[in-house]
Amino acid sequence: MPTALIDRYRTVQSRIHSACVKANRAPDTVRLIAVSKLHPAEDIRILALSGQLAFGENYVQELTAKVHALDKTPIEWHFIGPLQSNKCKEIATTAYMMHSLDRVKLIAPLAHFRPEHMPPLKVLLQVNMDDEHSKSGVQTFNELLLLAQAVIAHKSLDLQGLMTIPAPCTDPIAQSRPFAQLREWRDRLSDTLNLALPELSMGMSVDLEAAIAEGATMVRVGTDIFGARPTQSHLT
Ligand SMILES: *Cc1c(COP(=O)(O)O)cnc(C)c1O
Repeated sequence: MPTALIDRYRTVQSRIHSACVKANRAPDTVRLIAVSKLHPAEDIRILALSGQLAFGENYVQELTAKVHALDKTPIEWHFIGPLQSNKCKEIATTAYMMHSLDRVKLIAPLAHFRPEHMPPLKVLLQVNMDDEHSKSGVQTFNELLLLAQAVIAHKSLDLQGLMTIPAPCTDPIAQSRPFAQLREWRDRLSDTLNLALPELSMGMSVDLEAAIAEGATMVRVGTDIFGARPTQSHLT
């Protein structure tokens, strides 16, 4: 039901607002990325008509289909999933921002396929703060630095900051640790490169408050807006 969807959306917006107030931050310093993976294009259209601009998708095939289905709707597409190097063209031609860049191998194809008529592709580097949880993301500061240097060599890519997906955790104290560490790595990388890196993409349905307290500028929220996801299909 659209009303339930819009109610959940408004609730997430007010959680973000409250978390900003609590952290002494201006509410417009945190953007909501609505993570619509495995949910229908119609739900995206409803939220877009309610004023939501940024949507996050994880699977190239699904993103491409939704871009096509919603080509009349103004939407900023954020790619947040693992990317195979043979799918870089689809992302370079459709995405506003790539949150999950984690390998040097992706950089040249993303830069090459970014169309000249589009602004540079905004890029975040994915950091893995707890190696047990996932294989995606760099694990050392040195790897992060090499990746950043490779990105900034390309004019069609625009390095904006870092992203992380910590292991799921419900304890607020434990939740804040990887977020604080991501902020510290961002500050260190920014100093090392002498380059502003304004964006920290961190925080999801269960931990957006902790992420905002540690400086998130983008929270990626799926379940608490769209409801539980249908089980993942064969999409890649
Ligand atoms: C699915 C996903 C989200 C949204 O997670 P929820 O717990 O549903 O809010 C955020 N970020 C990434 C990278 C995801 O894959």
